[in-house]
Amino acid sequence: MADALERVSDPKLREQLQLIRNLYGQVLTSEDLQRQIKGFQGQKGIYKPAGAEQALWVRQTRRGIYPDKELSLQPDGSWTFLYAPEGRDGQTDLTLDTNRALLTCKSTGSPVGVFRQTTDVLGRTAYDVLGLARVEAYDGEHFVLRGEPIDWTSAPIPEEVVPTFSPFQVDGPSMVESLRIARDSRFSVALRRVYHERCALCQVGYRVKGQVVGVEAAHIIPVQDGGVISDLRNGMLLCKNHHALFDRFAWTFDGKLEVRVSPDREFRESALANHLLGWEGKRLANLPTLDRDLPAPEAIDWRERRFDEAWP
Ligand SMILES: [Zn+2]
Repeated sequence: MADALERVSDPKLREQLQLIRNLYGQVLTSEDLQRQIKGFQGQKGIYKPAGAEQALWVRQTRRGIYPDKELSLQPDGSWTFLYAPEGRDGQTDLTLDTNRALLTCKSTGSPVGVFRQTTDVLGRTAYDVLGLARVEAYDGEHFVLRGEPIDWTSAPIPEEVVPTFSPFQVDGPSMVESLRIARDSRFSVALRRVYHERCALCQVGYRVKGQVVGVEAAHIIPVQDGGVISDLRNGMLLCKNHHALFDRFAWTFDGKLEVRVSPDREFRESALANHLLGWEGKRLANLPTLDRDLPAPEAIDWRERRFDEAWP
């Protein structure tokens, strides 16, 4: 799996795209982005740097001819976003420089940065940095953007269907280091999105300067036991304490997503003051909105078996 950034010959463009990749998952205000991202100050919609053939980024605006659609997230953290082209006099005009720059990305396979307007926790207008995407198609109304992690070498990317869950990691072709790091960070961000940035159990979660703090991505079947690495159905978002306790099998949950706590007396005595026993037998308080993003039954069963072995 090659890194698509290698296809971008202009070093300045490549550097900016790398930066957008690194900012993936952050929610930043316009001012924050203006300091870092070329063109963000003046340009809305699609930004094509002067002299470049391709677009550097697109930014969701609410003035498109066809409204942009909601982001659609896949279990591995990749996503699809339908982005409305720019228009003139209320009509889509694909000959506009900006639209043509996106069509260039489509034909060359060069990545483009994607920002989506949102509201931060203070109610200010902010941008969700969606990272890098491939311009997969133009469907007659929208550009179809497919966001990392994607296999940049396969063209076209297969139709979007939710893949069946495979609990254990199957190693494919070796992955370049930059993409492996991207995959791991995207697993975390995908979990943050679907778990609303809060611990599945206690709902703790914070934001500091655009970054989510205090919560971690946890694997249900651990990676060292061969668990699938980047499928959010083998994961959940937990605060640091509940993650540490989960890793020691101090608690788990069953197929009904109800909390089970270790029967061990020493642990229960120590946990008394720390609320954990209060969740025993109750359904996890913070779960993904879509059923398809919930922990997979195979992963839960594996975990429960280990839990029962840990406390015979
Ligand atoms: Zn917690």
